[in-house]
Amino acid sequence: MRNVVKVRIYPTTAQKEALLQAFGCARWWWNRALNLNNETYKATGKGLSRQGYNDLLPALKQEFPWLKNCYSQVLQSVSLNLSRAFINFFEGRAKYPNFKSKHGKQSIQYPQSVKLLNRVIKLPKIGEVEAKLHRTFDGVLKTVTVSMTCTGKYYAALLFDDGLPIETASTNGKALGIDLGLTHFAITSDGSKFDNPKHLLKREKNLKRKQQKLSRKVKGSVSHAKARKIVARVHERIINTRKDFQHKLSRKLVNENQVIIVENLAVKNMVKNHNLAKAISDCGWSEFTRQLKYKSEKEGKIYLEIGRFFPSSKTCHVCLNQIGSLPLEVRSWTCKACQTKHDRDINAAKNIRDEGLRLLRQSSVQVLALGTSATVSGESVRPKRGRKTSVEASVREAGSPHYIGTPISVG
Ligand SMILES: [Zn+2]
Repeated sequence: MRNVVKVRIYPTTAQKEALLQAFGCARWWWNRALNLNNETYKATGKGLSRQGYNDLLPALKQEFPWLKNCYSQVLQSVSLNLSRAFINFFEGRAKYPNFKSKHGKQSIQYPQSVKLLNRVIKLPKIGEVEAKLHRTFDGVLKTVTVSMTCTGKYYAALLFDDGLPIETASTNGKALGIDLGLTHFAITSDGSKFDNPKHLLKREKNLKRKQQKLSRKVKGSVSHAKARKIVARVHERIINTRKDFQHKLSRKLVNENQVIIVENLAVKNMVKNHNLAKAISDCGWSEFTRQLKYKSEKEGKIYLEIGRFFPSSKTCHVCLNQIGSLPLEVRSWTCKACQTKHDRDINAAKNIRDEGLRLLRQSSVQVLALGTSATVSGESVRPKRGRKTSVEASVREAGSPHYIGTPISVG
């Protein structure tokens, strides 16, 4: 199983210079390869492969000799990551790859040849960089990603493989549906609502103020550069606060449940309005679902995304009666068919859970004594060994009580 450990590193001035050059080369190659891919696609209808990118590198090194200063495997990692980014895009998991800016966070990846020594990390062509390695690590060191934040801090993300097999997924336990909302960060099918921490909102307001200040400065001036750094620092604090909150919440939910079911974000966004609040929650949601997924997989639990649209808010989870419209401001409603009183969000979370369980029941994983939903009958036996823990729900399949008409395709 693979684990990532992120440590702070402290390069010397000379090492910073060398890293900056490496970041520049990697970024240059990413942008160049991306552009090349776009043009090749326009001309031939086909993109470039990872090998296709790598084959271009020797000639480019002749044309641009400074490219030779960069460790060659760093450039090859860029080729790999770009081709992966395209695969993720075509399979609907990610947006179209973007060009990289020299102003954002910078990073490079070493697929091998990095050594961990006592309190230093030895990077090819950079040397021994001081690091906070305050624990021993299990497993073989695989890739190392070195990054620099906008505030000038350096980190190394170390990927270890401990050689142990991934836990076999089991559905034996409690299932939880989660609705990601705008009024609350997350609402669960067992009736809990979780809000973003209050001081996060305060910090976001502070960020807005600092950003306005920055926009009034003359570009290229000293005060502009200063204001920019201040904005980056506030931004960094917001990201840390948000991540900390999400890590605690995802840890709690994964600890307490065996099956976690959420709506696929691409599907969720298709039915919501575009506004700022959504944009903010979006970036929070995708990080949160990423955490739920990897934490579940690590422990042999099941993380499931419902990959198609169904009206989770407008369906009564008790009798499956659907109501015509439910404006956003209506927070609770009573089902006309069975007279059940619903909290809008909790009802939605319960529908998400039930739909996920229905899909799981259809897939080869057998559901054992979940006891959480009337729609689950105690069918038998063991999950297949070694199956992936996240189950992709089929978009085309009908037969759901929640199913309405033609499914909307994703992407
Ligand atoms: Zn009802």
